[in-house]
Amino acid sequence: MPCRYHCPNCKHDVFEEISVNVTTSFTVINTKEGLDYGKQSSAEGGYVDRFQCASCGYVIKDPDGTPISTLEEVAPVLKKLGAYTNEETMGEP
Ligand SMILES: [Zn+2]
Repeated sequence: MPCRYHCPNCKHDVFEEISVNVTTSFTVINTKEGLDYGKQSSAEGGYVDRFQCASCGYVIKDPDGTPISTLEEVAPVLKKLGAYTNEETMGEP
């Protein structure tokens, strides 16, 4: 049964993975207006600190209060919190 997960706090359905201690680098390019940032050229190291709601910043935590750090754990925890909708029942009152 496919289901859609949402934030238990605000019901937004987009989440983001937050990593810390990451080293990133950007290219700097010449433009008509002078130097400007180009593309991000690398992101190295770091670790996933938490998953959170992209809208309100609600941090997804397991029942012990530890922030989730792998994507595989996000769905079961949201399911336990009842923060999901079965596709089949969507649209019904
Ligand atoms: Zn939210």
